[in-house]
Amino acid sequence: MPASYLNDQGDWVKQCTKCEQVQPVAEYYKHTAGVTKDGLKPRCRTCTSAQLRDQNARRAKKRRQKSHKLTKLHVDWIREQQGKFSTREIAKAFSKRFFNMKINNSTVSRIFSGKIHIDPESTEDTLSIYDLLEGASQFSGSVEDYIESADDKKIKF
Ligand SMILES: [Zn+2]
Repeated sequence: MPASYLNDQGDWVKQCTKCEQVQPVAEYYKHTAGVTKDGLKPRCRTCTSAQLRDQNARRAKKRRQKSHKLTKLHVDWIREQQGKFSTREIAKAFSKRFFNMKINNSTVSRIFSGKIHIDPESTEDTLSIYDLLEGASQFSGSVEDYIESADDKKIKF
C-alpha cells in the first residue's frame, strides 16, 4: 500500500489505490489509528465517498428486496421449475416472471429442500391483488385464465 511521500516540489503527496492519481495528502481522509503507516486512508476523498455511496446503494437495494414476501404463488412456481433449470436460471426467470421481484439462488435451493415453505394456516398464505396483477402481466393466457389458475380462496382484495 503506497504511503505518502514528499514530491519534487516538497509537498506531501500520496497515490490513491483506486484511481491511482497522485494527490496532496489533504485529499485523503484520516484512517483509524494504526491501520496504515501514514494514518491516511488508501483511497482519496473522491474514491472513498464513491465507495460509501455504492455501499449504501447496495444495502438499500438489499433492504428493498427483503421487503418482498414470497407467497404460495411464488413458491409453487419455483417448485414447478425444479429439475428443469439451474437455481441460478430459476432465480433469473423468477425476476422476469414476477415483475422484477428478486430472489437469490439460495432462496430457490431452500425452497427445493423444503426449508422454506408456506404455512397453509398462515395469514401470509394469501395472494394480494397486486400479486395477481404482477403474475397476470407475465401470464401467456388471458387474465381470466390466470385468475382461474390461482386458488380463489386465497385471493385477498
Ligand atoms: Zn482516488
